[in-house]
Amino acid sequence: MNMILALLLLAAPAAHAAPALPRSDFNRLAARAGIPVFWLPVAYDTATLSPADLAPVGDADALERFVIGGKFTAEFDHAYKFLVEERRTEAVRRELDSGRPNLIVSDFRKAPASERELVRRVAAAGKLIDELYALQTGGLRWRESLGGDAASRSMFERNHGPWCEAPGTESDPFCSAVPTFPARKSDAYPQSLAQDGAMCDELKSRPDGKALLDPFTVVREKDGKLVAVPLVEAYGPQMKLIAVELRAAAAAQGRDEAALKAYLLGAAKGFETGNWAEADETWSRMGARNSKWYLRIAPDEVEFDPCQEKAGFHVSFARIDSGSLAWQDKLTPLRQEMEDSLAALAPAAYKARRVAFGLPDFIEIVLNSGDSRTPAGATIGQSLPNWGKVAEENRRRTVVMTNLYEDPDSKKTALLKAGEMFDAAVLANYPSDKEAGLVGTILHEATHNLGPHSGSLVGGKTQAQIFGGRLEGVLEELKAQSGALWYVDLLKRKGLLSDKQVAEIYTHELVWCMGHIANGMTTDGGAPKPYSQLSGVQIGWLSKAGVLDWKAGPDGVERFSVDFAKLPAAAEALMREVVRVKGSGDVAGAKALVDGFVSGADAPLMRMAKVQERLRKYPKESYSYTPLY
Ligand SMILES: [Zn+2]
Repeated sequence: MNMILALLLLAAPAAHAAPALPRSDFNRLAARAGIPVFWLPVAYDTATLSPADLAPVGDADALERFVIGGKFTAEFDHAYKFLVEERRTEAVRRELDSGRPNLIVSDFRKAPASERELVRRVAAAGKLIDELYALQTGGLRWRESLGGDAASRSMFERNHGPWCEAPGTESDPFCSAVPTFPARKSDAYPQSLAQDGAMCDELKSRPDGKALLDPFTVVREKDGKLVAVPLVEAYGPQMKLIAVELRAAAAAQGRDEAALKAYLLGAAKGFETGNWAEADETWSRMGARNSKWYLRIAPDEVEFDPCQEKAGFHVSFARIDSGSLAWQDKLTPLRQEMEDSLAALAPAAYKARRVAFGLPDFIEIVLNSGDSRTPAGATIGQSLPNWGKVAEENRRRTVVMTNLYEDPDSKKTALLKAGEMFDAAVLANYPSDKEAGLVGTILHEATHNLGPHSGSLVGGKTQAQIFGGRLEGVLEELKAQSGALWYVDLLKRKGLLSDKQVAEIYTHELVWCMGHIANGMTTDGGAPKPYSQLSGVQIGWLSKAGVLDWKAGPDGVERFSVDFAKLPAAAEALMREVVRVKGSGDVAGAKALVDGFVSGADAPLMRMAKVQERLRKYPKESYSYTPLY
């Protein structure tokens, strides 16, 4: 064990304590509960309640129950605990209320037997994945200790653990579904470690850092040493149950679903052996032209991990929306030109590859489980796998979800939110149908396959090794979303988009940024939120370039105006800098770009305080999924 690790182990808190009630909460909750005491204002220190600062309310004798001989009584301790619990349940309800419940119902009750069996088995696998993911997050170990109230149980199920996730509550120390306020600890690392940025840096810098941060492992302490343990060793029994459901689903499929059947069997093997090669191969061969279904069941994304290195289990299950075939036919001939033109932006930093990635399939989500079933919001586009041969050979499969946020409630809210941040001239371009958003998402996902990517080596090192998982995550998303802006001009020049569609896409993407800025730039553990940070960079960059202007309108309220004519050149300059930084492995340049706009001198440009003040009052969609079979 080396020195820094030893220090981390010593510094780790042995136990957790309830946070102390601030004076304002104490007095407010005591009045509500009819506890006749008042915490007097004390100039020298209002953080700690001492017996001398407590006064009786109304009746002078009221204090005797709570303070005797200058000391708190047992009755006071009891009352104080009650107030802490009141404050906790208040925070839990606030966390839940930050989401607007929304439901995706899919009815297969009249479908053929093979389809109903598929849905039934995938739904069963989804329940197992939810359990397994809660194990990964570290949440599952607290299920037995949940608060007795229904809200705590609901929040635990929604959040895959006892910890709060909403921007307004995630850093509230009272927000926990468990009355003992356990610290947020992932199961991917030893519980004795602090699990903060310092731990991630320390693991990364060790000679065995690559093994310890392998996405398909967890880190365990054995004989005083840290070792990487494969997921299949750590969670074997749970993973094998999932394989049983997948094999049963495969057995029900006929020749018309041969590609799906091959994937179900490949995925089952992955859950049995921990080797995902066959699953990824069979998965890459499934598509909108050979199956009615989209299914991905695997450990994939890393955002949930404190170091953003470990893969979280999830299910995304959907029906193919054949509307994507038209866009595939339009964009497939342009793929190489997209790669070549991107490389031409920074020829010294990056050489074009031959690309042959699949353009996104449109899908209608039936079920999300585990890491895909987020407490608030939902993934609207995804490109997988992140590792392995299929990824390295650039044969990733990309999907765009077309049935989310399309209900009347969501659309009404989206327009109101856009109007909070942009002036009337911009709002006139707010898209009325889903096409603009879909094109933006297609371009974002396609760009993940273009330019320097997670497998690109600079001086023998991967992007994650050069930049660290945290910064690399931000850069990769910044690349993808900058592509969503930059490639619009190419599609326009090719005659694939009208001027009106172009303005609609730009507007849609700028509004998208505001939604992410409202989420805040980092998690309560200090990890960067990639979409939020890229949004901060883009809004700051476009402001500096004169595309965005923050000014008061006729009603005296400040909002952004947009000079659409200047946007293409500014998007190109940003894309050039991102390709340069990633392609050359320029860590200092990456930090200057990201930190400069996120926390540095240019951070005020994104107007984060205003965005949060105006947008956080709108609850986010909180999706549940009900497949009927
Ligand atoms: Zn992305």
